[in-house]
Amino acid sequence: MRLHTCYSSAYAPPCVPTLARLAIAARELDRLNLVDLHEPTALSAAELTGLHEETYLSAFLLGREPLASSQGIAWSPQLRDATLAMLGGQLEAARHALRHGLAMNLARGFHHAVWARGSGFCPLNGLALVALRLPQHRIFVIDCDEHGGNGTEEYAARLPNLHAASIFGTRFGCMGGPRSLAREVRVPRDGFQAYRAALRDIANLLAEQRPDLVLYQAGADCHVDDPKSRVRLTTRRFVERDLQVLRMLRSLDLPTVIIAAGGYQSAAAVAQLNIATVRCALHVQRKEWPFARGPAVP
Ligand SMILES: [Zn+2]
Repeated sequence: MRLHTCYSSAYAPPCVPTLARLAIAARELDRLNLVDLHEPTALSAAELTGLHEETYLSAFLLGREPLASSQGIAWSPQLRDATLAMLGGQLEAARHALRHGLAMNLARGFHHAVWARGSGFCPLNGLALVALRLPQHRIFVIDCDEHGGNGTEEYAARLPNLHAASIFGTRFGCMGGPRSLAREVRVPRDGFQAYRAALRDIANLLAEQRPDLVLYQAGADCHVDDPKSRVRLTTRRFVERDLQVLRMLRSLDLPTVIIAAGGYQSAAAVAQLNIATVRCALHVQRKEWPFARGPAVP
C-alpha cells in the first residue's frame, strides 16, 4: 500500500532553495515505494479570487514589488508558479481525502500568509484556500510546525467553516482566538507530557466538532536537530507525535490531508523526517484506518 501523494516538479524549482529540497523528499519517498505520486493541475488565477486582498494577489501574480516578495523570498515567476502548483495540489489532495480518507500534499501549507500579504516564506495561504474553495465542508487545521500558524488563525476568524489548532515552540504571533486554539510547548522546559496534553485538547475539540476534513501540517522544523527548533522533539518523539495525531484522526474516522510543511536541516535530513511521517500514516492506514467516505465533492 502506498500513500496517495500530490507532487509536481513545479513545486521544487532549483532557483528557490527552500522549495528545491522537496524534490529530494519526493525522490526518496518514490524510491522506497511509499507513495503514489500524482501531478496536480496548478491553481488558476481565477481560483485565487477571494483568498487574499486583491492588491496583494495581483502584486504576487505580476511580480509587483515590494508586496510580491513580502513573504521573505525574492519573487520570481518560478516562485509564483511553484506556489500555484502547490495550491492546486492542496485542493486535489483535499478532494481525494474526502472521497477516500487519506492523502498527502508534498508541499508547504504556507500557514503564515495573512489576508493582506505574505509572511514567513509563505506567499499564499494554502490551508485557508481549502476552506474558501470547499465552503460546504467544515475544515479543521492541526498545525504541528515549530512555528505558530498565525495566518491560518487570522483566516479562522474570517471563514466560518475553518477551525485551527496550533502547537508550536515559536509563537509567530499565534495567540488563539475565534475558532483558533494556540498552545506553546517547549519540551526541554515543559516535558513531552505537555505536548501529549495539547494533542488531547485537540482530540477533544475534534470529537466535539466532527469536521468534514482535517489538514495536518506535519512540520519537520520542530525536530531536535533543526536550527529553528524550540519544541525539540527527538526522532522518537517526532514519530510519537505523528502516530498520536493520525490515530486520533483514524479513531474519529476523519478524512485527512497530510502536508509536509517546513524543515531547515539538510534536505536529506528533512526528507528522512517526511519519510517517517509517511510511514506512520501507512502504518495507521494499513492496520487501523477505516477509510472514511465523505459526502460527494464537487
Ligand atoms: Zn516552521
